[in-house]
Amino acid sequence: MNAGDKPAFPGGWLYDLDRVTLGRHLVAMGLPDYAATQVFQWLYKQREPEISNWTNIARAHRKVLAETFCSTLPRVEKESRDSAGTRKILLRLLDGKGVEAVWIPGEGRSTICISTQVGCVMGCSFCATGAMGFERNLSMGEILAQVLVLARFQSEAGERLNIVFMGMGEPLLNPRAVMGALAVMTGDPGMRIPDRHITISTVGLLEPLAELEQRFPRVRISLSLHAADEATRRRLMPKAALLHSIDQLLAYFSQPRHFPVTFEYVLIRGINTSRAHARRLAARLAPIPGKINLIPVNPVPGCPFAAPSPAEEDTFLRILVSAGLSVTVRRSRGRDIQSACGQLAGEAGGRV
Ligand code: SF4
Repeated sequence: MNAGDKPAFPGGWLYDLDRVTLGRHLVAMGLPDYAATQVFQWLYKQREPEISNWTNIARAHRKVLAETFCSTLPRVEKESRDSAGTRKILLRLLDGKGVEAVWIPGEGRSTICISTQVGCVMGCSFCATGAMGFERNLSMGEILAQVLVLARFQSEAGERLNIVFMGMGEPLLNPRAVMGALAVMTGDPGMRIPDRHITISTVGLLEPLAELEQRFPRVRISLSLHAADEATRRRLMPKAALLHSIDQLLAYFSQPRHFPVTFEYVLIRGINTSRAHARRLAARLAPIPGKINLIPVNPVPGCPFAAPSPAEEDTFLRILVSAGLSVTVRRSRGRDIQSACGQLAGEAGGRV
């Protein structure tokens, strides 16, 4: 599937179809419904996009499938790799838009960071994606394709795979495609990834979040909080801060849940890293089961923000820990290839 090609397939792109819809299409074409399960197994278990290789499907049916549906994955236009093995890819989509995703190797497991939108409307002030503005939502298939392409980097087929929705875009502004992709990722037939190995990162859109958690209660949630007072949050996340107050967000996450929430807090020198900020954050989060992930801000071209000094970071961390909170500091991987938190988008601008 190359940029600019017109889809010549009356049934569309297979990765955009859920199991039920595909089954209906196939039955209407005179194929048995169970052929949809076979197709899903080839796409998501064998990860084989070439229809002619689907050997447990009758040759005549394969011919009809190949004439009706496109099964080609988007082209990897560019791949970057850092010294620790983190790889960032730029996928070129059918309409010429570009989307970035990242594969991060680990001990016996790897993590895939995927995007849900081209650009983002939220405009968070520390984020490269926010600076590029919003172009469009990704389809379900475009979200799944990132996983399928990046999973090729796994060293062993049985290696644990974590999926984090922390790339370009706010997932809950694209809830239908995200939930469709989650169903395929966790489903059987599908990728059969345990839902507890999947994390959705959001600025906190509570209505779609509640729906998502009802359908996928064991998917983990990260809330991009980044401030413990409204004025600072408005400065860092001007649009997200208008949607819900910090009080509303914390009330939501105070309810009983399968897995405690992770609060993401980007550390920006002179903005949200003083002792007073740390004490306020500790006071607000202490009653809520959860953990805090501190992220020293990553450099973004054109953005003046800088990470705090090691001493300032250490003081901030100690105040939270001494309040009894569970805290980690995320040392971002892939900074030198612009693939760390907040850095995606640099090369993804559409060509059309
Ligand atoms: S941090 Fe997330 S929500 Fe904010 S602009 Fe970047 S991609 Fe959008």
